[in-house]
Amino acid sequence: MAPEIKYNKIFIDNEWVDAVSGKTFETFNPHDGATIAKVAEGDKDDIDAAVQAAKRAFHRNSEWRLKDASERCKILYKFADLLDRDAEYLSRLETYNNGMVVGLSRRMIGGAGYTVRYVASLADKIQGSTIPSDGDLFSYTLKQPVGVCGLILPWNAPLLMFINKVTTALTAGCTVVVKPAEQTPLTALALGALLAEAGVPRGVVNIVPGYGETAGAALTHHPDVALISFTGSLEVGKLIQRAAGTNNLKRVALELGGKSPLIIMNDADLNKAVPFAAQSVFVHQGQICIAASRLFVQAEIYDKFVQKAVELAKSWKLGDPALETTQNGPQIDESMMNKVLGYIEKGKAEGAKLLTGGKRVGTSGFYIEPAVFADVKDDMTIAKEEIFGPVQSILKFNTLEEAIDRANATNYGLAAGIFTSSIETALQFSKYVEAGNVWVNTYMQHGPQLPFGGFKESGVGRENGLDAVNAYLEVKTVTIAVPKQI
Ligand code: NAD
Repeated sequence: MAPEIKYNKIFIDNEWVDAVSGKTFETFNPHDGATIAKVAEGDKDDIDAAVQAAKRAFHRNSEWRLKDASERCKILYKFADLLDRDAEYLSRLETYNNGMVVGLSRRMIGGAGYTVRYVASLADKIQGSTIPSDGDLFSYTLKQPVGVCGLILPWNAPLLMFINKVTTALTAGCTVVVKPAEQTPLTALALGALLAEAGVPRGVVNIVPGYGETAGAALTHHPDVALISFTGSLEVGKLIQRAAGTNNLKRVALELGGKSPLIIMNDADLNKAVPFAAQSVFVHQGQICIAASRLFVQAEIYDKFVQKAVELAKSWKLGDPALETTQNGPQIDESMMNKVLGYIEKGKAEGAKLLTGGKRVGTSGFYIEPAVFADVKDDMTIAKEEIFGPVQSILKFNTLEEAIDRANATNYGLAAGIFTSSIETALQFSKYVEAGNVWVNTYMQHGPQLPFGGFKESGVGRENGLDAVNAYLEVKTVTIAVPKQI
């Protein structure tokens, strides 16, 4: 049964309002392309109203600013309890609007409560230092919330991204305006209602669904926004950094794309490496920024590995994401499906060998069979550009040194992995690969304590852990004249 859509309006000052323009947009179920709700379409006027609400809530005498850090923590703990209470509804809603298979939605929402509790527990541990100064001076630092934050979300993991960004900003004491992706506004709105129920005061969290070029751009250009935290494409990330540079030099945190290498050495345990490699690029239909989309396999085991990879891809269960047994659901929408199919055609045209999959399945919904390409060369488009689809590209290499150089020959640097039984190989690879997240004999393992982000054009800053909380804080140095001599 389809989950009930309880919220489809703009959320400002803990109230649900229509767009100033009165406009709405449709949101879809990627399983069959059917419209599931009409959602208020915010643009510049609504962003202005939301930013003003967040600014009022950030005033030094506001209810939020007067709360102790431990009280912020308590509210977020309550929010985590509500996430647990509504976990099944939220995971169904995520699957309905995003096409994420329900097993994965459940794991994400299960992890969300833990993330919220972990991050919230840092609220009363934010502290400055006392610093010895020369002369008749006493100095200390204060760490203070940066102010109103604009949080711009992608469609691929809507709930998780909302949780990561909003929880961290609130832990730091900021107030926020969230702009969910136009494809997936529904879980963000449901989470807004839970935050209000948990006791977050008016104006602290505001949510404006709408399009990137209108609502998103208005937020990034807004002079009263102190920080933008953005997860999405490299192209838009660059626009956001430019927008910050041309107005108030707001702080910018960017989590962008990737073309992540996974290296399989001759001495790897193939019983682990083959399934991990498949899972790492097929999970969530390949719509994951850290997808292992360049799979380098060492020459001696190459043929055997490719054969096993193909067998596994052929057995992958594609279907309705709301069913428990499904491994892969649909791509998010028709345009993304066509983009991925275009990459598959390009791979074939440029001489890579398509060994299985790669075709659209059915005519309703946006399904693609998991594809395996062998004999992929570094200069082929499928080895260079982020596909964001279920496409495994297998490349051959001879030495570790060669694998590291080829792995690093990309403008991206989000994630990397290696399967090997040699500790020396693992440590050398981890040291020299240019990526913000490196996994050894595993892939895509993560937790709220672990900083997450990219080198090079994969991003600026880190999400999760203490590093992420610090991004929402300013450091203030206070120096007082105190004569040494009494
Ligand atoms: P996108 O860049 O198209 O959109 C992301 C968000 O930006 C949406 O909310 C969109 O409305 C908004 N936006 C679009 N144009 C804008 C503009 N001019 N100004 C302000 N906002 C604007 O990305 P997407 O297609 O939703 O997500 C896929 C991308 O996200 C992939 O590249 C993926 O790798 C990346 N991603 C990265 C991470 C990470 O943590 N590094 C995580 C998930 C996704």
